[in-house]
Amino acid sequence: MILDGKKVSNLIINQVKEQMRDIEDDVTLAIVSVGKNPASEIYIRNKMKMCQIVGINCIHYHNNNNHVVEDSIVDLIVDLNRDPRITGILVQLPLPEHINEKRVIETISPLKDVDGFSNYNIGRLWAGDSCVYPCTPDGIITLLEHYGINVSGKHCVIIGRSNIVGKPLAAMMLQKNATVTVCHSKTENLEEITRQADILISAAGAPKFITADMIKQDAIVVDVGINYDEDGHICGDVDFDTVCDKASYISPVPGGVGPMTVAKLMQRVLITKKLQEGKVDIDV
Ligand code: NAD
Repeated sequence: MILDGKKVSNLIINQVKEQMRDIEDDVTLAIVSVGKNPASEIYIRNKMKMCQIVGINCIHYHNNNNHVVEDSIVDLIVDLNRDPRITGILVQLPLPEHINEKRVIETISPLKDVDGFSNYNIGRLWAGDSCVYPCTPDGIITLLEHYGINVSGKHCVIIGRSNIVGKPLAAMMLQKNATVTVCHSKTENLEEITRQADILISAAGAPKFITADMIKQDAIVVDVGINYDEDGHICGDVDFDTVCDKASYISPVPGGVGPMTVAKLMQRVLITKKLQEGKVDIDV
């Protein structure tokens, strides 16, 4: 069975649209990006398009200069933090190598951190306290829940330990009482571990490297990867054509986790709005 992220994300988008009708003030997302990165350009375009659909203003602060000094990006974020018209701030990663991403992310006020990547937010996530859930992991959990998949007690194997997907997803899965194993590029005997997974979630960024022999019969497979195959077509980490016959549920690429992430971002912008108005209980 297909975990249809496009369908489920549409439900979320419709909810956001409805909630937007009850908000009298403008809601504005600031997207900050630096340099030329074709993948980032596509992601930003998708986010801006979705903002327009749900009625969120979106301002793109783009500095085309790959050699821009770090301080100028930090100064921009300080200004956006202070600007009452800006609801949420998103820094499109990756930034050019000479810029310290950590410093830039940590400059975002926790009240405007729509991605939930700040240490403050991630700390609360691991402590099990209320927080802004990072969009991609939250999108995955919602996708599974939509299909009635209860992760409690299940062995969830996550491939990838990045701060934006693998690590926060591990925290959220633990919170939901899954038994979690996190694998990465140094993991030995990866196949032995993936074959034990009731739920296998791959966020490695390696095209089609999960093959049918790496999963157990009827496993649930979630593919986070966005890669290009040798013909230049978009593909995931999972070799969909072979794995789909063995999996009980599988998310496609495109049309799986990607649209869920964008829909969750729209939700996040509304949550930050409520945070700023004191209508939700994250103690910032
Ligand atoms: P990253 O490069 O920061 O992290 C990749 C992780 O995978 C690392 O921890 C690395 O150790 C591990 N890894 C890489 N190759 C591996 C291998 N062969 N075996 C085991 N582990 C391996 O990447 P990221 O930012 O977390 O993104 C991962 C993938 O997910 C990328 O393809 C990215 O485009 C995609 N992504 C998709 C969405 C979405 O909304 N669908 C969101 C974020 C990222």
